[in-house]
Amino acid sequence: MSLTSVSLVSTSEATQIDVFSPFDGSLIGSVPNLGARDVPGLLALARKGVHDSAALARHRRAGILERAAQLIERDAADFAGLIVDEAGKTLRQAEKEVKRCINTLKLSAEEARRNAGEVVPFDAYEGSESRQGWFTREPLGLILAITPYNDPLNLVAHKLGPAIAGGNAVILKPSELAPLSALKLVQYLVEAGLPESVVTVATGGADLGKALVAVREIRMISFTGGFATGEQIARGAGLKKLAMDLGGNAPVLVLEDCDLAATVESCVSGAFWAAGQNCIGTQRILVDASIYAAFRERFVELTRAMVLGDPGRRETDMGPMITEASARRAEHLVNLALGEGARLLCGHQRQGAAYAPTVLEGVDHGSQLWREEVFAPVVMLAPFEDLEQAISLANAPEYSLHAGLFTRDLSKALSLARRIEAGGVMVNDSSDYRFDAMPFGGSKYGSLGREGVRFAYEDMTQPKVVCINQLG
Ligand code: NAD
Repeated sequence: MSLTSVSLVSTSEATQIDVFSPFDGSLIGSVPNLGARDVPGLLALARKGVHDSAALARHRRAGILERAAQLIERDAADFAGLIVDEAGKTLRQAEKEVKRCINTLKLSAEEARRNAGEVVPFDAYEGSESRQGWFTREPLGLILAITPYNDPLNLVAHKLGPAIAGGNAVILKPSELAPLSALKLVQYLVEAGLPESVVTVATGGADLGKALVAVREIRMISFTGGFATGEQIARGAGLKKLAMDLGGNAPVLVLEDCDLAATVESCVSGAFWAAGQNCIGTQRILVDASIYAAFRERFVELTRAMVLGDPGRRETDMGPMITEASARRAEHLVNLALGEGARLLCGHQRQGAAYAPTVLEGVDHGSQLWREEVFAPVVMLAPFEDLEQAISLANAPEYSLHAGLFTRDLSKALSLARRIEAGGVMVNDSSDYRFDAMPFGGSKYGSLGREGVRFAYEDMTQPKVVCINQLG
């Protein structure tokens, strides 16, 4: 693909990163492999972007974001194909991601138009009656956006859209495993009228990320990825704003009075969407003991019926994982759990990067598989007799993102929603439901900030007060 219209530093020393299809290993594209030595060049581009972006009137920012959304809609099939090719998501999943990206950009355009600040009620307290004024939402300046491989388009849009709406410049470091959708998105933004300098794409691996994180003139780091990386970034960042969208280990509670057929269907999808490489993917399903046998039977039946294989075929339900190493890690964690007494209900076959959807029960609550984010097509079922115990199991991990619960009883749902510790509780949906305008983020350890366009926009802008003292 041509990268000519994108602010991409390419030095003579830069080697290439080849991007391979996780499905058949074919070469999809190459990008420069930048490192710490390229940071000064990247910063020179980005500094210009800080001025160019802040100089765009709000109607220009909104217009560019809307136009980019239209162009992506026109070429949605190309975007979906690229996601399939570089990330191994299935065609249906990729198409959904493209739709969501279009929505994310449209929402960002709305934010640029409407969220400009507020009047400050100075006369609400005694002593300031002669003053009136307002605050405006000003750009932060330069934002570093670091993104993962699993939603290689929409998670990038969740950073670029609000950042541009807020008048910021961005250095974008996409995942080295799937950087091409991000580059294509930036190209389309430029085609829609965004000055090239506003988004500087920095392709490279962890070393490049590390070097960028330490740059003093970066005002905010917006990171989506794993906990270990998030911790490294926090250690290296110094005094910058941090937004951390990290992992999960999502629980779902299934109560006796649920609609069983709909519940199982939603949970199977929640567990295996994007081959389980999904931060809000369902990992632990706690089912009322009175319906456990029926739930398990239907769950395994639907899992076995999934069509695995070529992600580019419309009928495929699940493609490969991103790399063979990821699939081997999943296999290893399941082997450990089996060694600790877990029972395998289906799956656990691996061929290269493809790992069959795997269902376990009887998993020891002390096992790594139960306690940590698995980020793979592996789900654990467990019956419960006592709802209190189920709530404390659901809440046990030190971090959490989303949870799901299924019941027809509204008052039970409301009471459980209050007690489940999560950034979002989905009632009658698995943990895997997200709407791009809602506040999205974690609770407990490592949770810093919220995405969801309005919330990211507010994080990526700073209020500036003007106060007029009327003399006389
Ligand atoms: P990762 O943490 O390995 O990598 C993410 C990005 O960080 C990549 O661009 C990588 O190059 C970069 N990076 C790695 N080391 C770095 C360092 N020391 N300094 C700066 N940058 C560095 O994550 P991944 O494997 O690509 O993605 C999977 C993880 O992302 C899972 O834990 C998943 O839960 C999480 N995730 C979270 C959300 C969310 O919105 N909460 C969404 C998707 C994925």
